[in-house]
Amino acid sequence: MRVPDGIQPLTGYREWHAWTDLEGMPVLMSLYRPAIWPRWEAMKASCLKTDLGLWVRGRPAGHRAPDGSCQCGLYAHRFPDFEPVAPNAPHRYVRGLVLGWGKYVLGSLGWRAELARPVAILSSPGLEEWVEHAADLYGLEVATSFPGLRTAA
Ligand SMILES: [Zn+2]
Repeated sequence: MRVPDGIQPLTGYREWHAWTDLEGMPVLMSLYRPAIWPRWEAMKASCLKTDLGLWVRGRPAGHRAPDGSCQCGLYAHRFPDFEPVAPNAPHRYVRGLVLGWGKYVLGSLGWRAELARPVAILSSPGLEEWVEHAADLYGLEVATSFPGLRTAA
């Protein structure tokens, strides 16, 4: 899924686990839940609370993500100079540029969106091969740093 015509997407920066699936293919996985980002398509947010069937006091059971009263949605930093996740072997992380659209909650340092899609990924020492392969599979630009990356879809 591309960004729909006429929509000006949010631009953001985020990290993923540099994961490898059972077929040995690189996958981008969210940091804080085991969600694999689809290739060539947008990731769609769902609320983890409803996924788990939890009932939360004072809130209807289930809402479209993200919701201002919840923590759900696809997260991104608004600025490229965010603090990366600390290295934690054997976990490996990659950073990239994402576009977000649909419903969203905007904060001063970041945003949460209903739909997001990576458009570029940073090469990372020791992960060069993984990054090249992931870029091919996901249709991403590879860059060495965030400045200079094009931000158009
Ligand atoms: Zn929620």
